[in-house]
This record gives sequence, structure tokens and C-alpha cells, in this order.
Amino acid sequence: MTDKLDAVVIGAGPVGLACAIEIQRQGLSVAVVEKGALVNSLVGYPTQMEFFSTPELLEIGGHPFPMASYKPHREDALDYYQRVAAAEKLDLRLYQRVTGLRGQAGDYVVETSQGEIAARAVVVATGFFDVPNRLGVPGEELPHVNHYYKEPYAHADRDVVVLGAKNSSAKAALALARAGARVTLVVRGPEVSESVKYWIRPDLLNRIKEGRIKAYFNTTVAAITPHAVEVLTPEGPRSIPADYVYALTGYRPDYSLLTEALGLPLDENDPARPIVFDPETHETARPGVYAAGTVCGGLATSRWFIENGRHHAQLIAAALAGALVPAR
Ligand SMILES: Cc1cc2nc3c(=O)[nH]c(=O)nc-3n(C[C@H](O)[C@H](O)[C@H](O)COP(=O)(O)OP(=O)(O)OC[C@H]3O[C@@H](n4cnc5c(N)ncnc54)[C@H](O)[C@@H]3O)c2cc1C
Repeated sequence: MTDKLDAVVIGAGPVGLACAIEIQRQGLSVAVVEKGALVNSLVGYPTQMEFFSTPELLEIGGHPFPMASYKPHREDALDYYQRVAAAEKLDLRLYQRVTGLRGQAGDYVVETSQGEIAARAVVVATGFFDVPNRLGVPGEELPHVNHYYKEPYAHADRDVVVLGAKNSSAKAALALARAGARVTLVVRGPEVSESVKYWIRPDLLNRIKEGRIKAYFNTTVAAITPHAVEVLTPEGPRSIPADYVYALTGYRPDYSLLTEALGLPLDENDPARPIVFDPETHETARPGVYAAGTVCGGLATSRWFIENGRHHAQLIAAALAGALVPAR
């Protein structure tokens, strides 16, 4: 085990990086431990995905995010966060998964896939993008079923079924149809969600109206077979041909990591089951462990996003400086 750090941040997403920058600026030593690549969630987003936020609202550490266009794409944001991490000379421990946490405030041991790291405090910024909401139907594990959409080009002239009615499914269905796939959208509710961005929803509704995208509403999936999705529609069962299936039904935080591995109590009075934390300092019910970013919302994964979650960094850094510096 190496020398004890003041803090370990778990997760090198935008908010985890923002936390590490602000903690470092307090004169504290900090490492960021990340199970995948730098800004791993964004690496997994669809190619050329356009953010809905304008660039200044995605900035961290006061680093400007200059853009000639109005909205950044995934690649712009990846470039930005990776350059900011380099400019700040952050201590990054990539491709190292956190698996456990023992000890107490001032004296923690972070257990990882590559050994242990001693730290006085821990910041949990693990986001929500690693655990898809499962459909729970037979055939979900088949190789042509995916919970993550990347790009449409492999699917030209193929039958593709997209499950879900929110932004991700709307954008995927449109891109797939434009790339020449035969797309069927399957929606559990009566319509495309009102929460779909105002510039995407009419586009999708018009493509459905003109027949370029087929859509089933009030429809549930009964099973997936190697060549079809079996659904229950208000008119009875149907078999929709499918060479590929995108089940874009959202994601949830990794609760086994939060509760079992990190020992963080949840707020069971909140239906979203977030981690219990103090909104002033973001310290959780486990003293010396802080929560930042999307993970703070529990199942409500849109409660905190980059725009508002990045501000957790200053609160946590100030709390850590208050707790750790006088103890030296
Ligand atoms: C398609 C899409 C578009 C979006 N557009 C916008 C937008 O325009 N504006 C906006 O503000 N937000 C947007 N969001 C939301 C935003 O991307 C997330 O809220 C944001 O990534 C949250 O940052 P975070 O740092 O809290 O978590 P994440 O970015 O999810 O980072 C968490 C990190 O923790 C790592 N991790 C998890 N478990 C472990 C472990 N055990 N050990 C080590 N590391 C671990 C993960 O690999 C990941 O890198 C969008 C989301 C999606 C899916």
C-alpha cells in the first residue's frame, strides 16, 4: 500500500474530475480511481451524440470550453475533460475498479482490483451508467440485444427494434431510420414521452406519421427470440421481426457497490432510494465518505447531471479542507 492520501475520488466522470480539481486546489493530495477509461461514461455514449447543455454549463475547474457551435458533441466533451484532467495533472488510476472500503473517517482503505489505497476521506462519484434497467423477459441475454446504442451504420437494410420512449430511444430510432434500417419503436406508455427534447420529439412524431418508423404504443415485450420481438399490443400479440434489438430503458446506480462494497445507507423514504447525505457538505451517513454527481439522485438519474452536479465539487472540497487541514 502507498502513502496515505487525503482523499480518493471514485469515478473519473465529469463530476469526479471536478471534485479532484477542487480538492487539489485546497492543497490536499487526491487520486481518482476509475474502473474504465478517463470519462468512461462519455466514452460509452453514442458516436457524435449532441449534448443538450451549452458548453459553458459543462465546464469544470473554471477551464473554458471554447466551441464554435452552439452544442458540444460527445467528442468535444471527451476532448475537453481529458485535456482538463491533463492540465490539472490529476493523479489518475484508470482501469482499476473499486471493490470495497474498510476503516473509518481519517483512516480508510480503498480496496481495488489492483491493490489497496489508504486515504483519509473518500468521494463517491460513480454515476449511473453501468447498470441497465432490465426488461426481465426471456431472450434478453441473446447476443443481438443491447442496452447501449453506439451508432447506426451496422444496421442498414436490417430490422431493428428500439424499446423505450425517452431521449435515447428517440435519437437512436431517428438515426437508425436515416441510416437505412427498418425501425420499429416499442413504447410501454400511450405516447413518446413529453420529456423528449422539444427539437427531437416532433421529428420522431413526423417520421412515425409518414411511416418511416413503425411504432407500437401501450405495448409490452413478452419475449425476445433470435429473429423477433414478441409483444403484447392493445390489439393482441404480435411478432416484430428483429435482426437487432436496442433496449434503451434507462440505467440505475450500482446499488451493490454503494451499499455492500462501500457501506452507504440509503434514504428509504425517498422512492428514488438515494444515498443519505448532508446537502450542505455532501458527506454521507458514513463519516468521511462524500457523494457527488448523478449518483446522489439514486434511481432519479436526471435529478443531478453535469450542469448542476459539477457544483458538488466546491462543497465537498471546502468540507474536506475544514475536516482534514486542522487535523494535520
Ligand atoms: C446520452 C446522454 C446525454 C447527456 N447529456 C447531458 C447534457 O447535455 N448535459 C448534462 O449536464 N448532462 C447530460 N447527461 C448526463 C450526464 O452525462 C451525467 O449526469 C454525467 O455523466 C454525470 O457525471 P458523474 O461524474 O456524476 O458520473 P459519470 O459520468 O457516470 O461517471 C462515473 C464514473 O464512475 C466510474 N465508476 C463506476 N463504478 C466504479 C467503480 N466501482 N470503481 C471505479 N470507478 C467506477 C464509471 O466508470 C464512470 O466513469 C447526459 C447523459 C446521457 C446518457
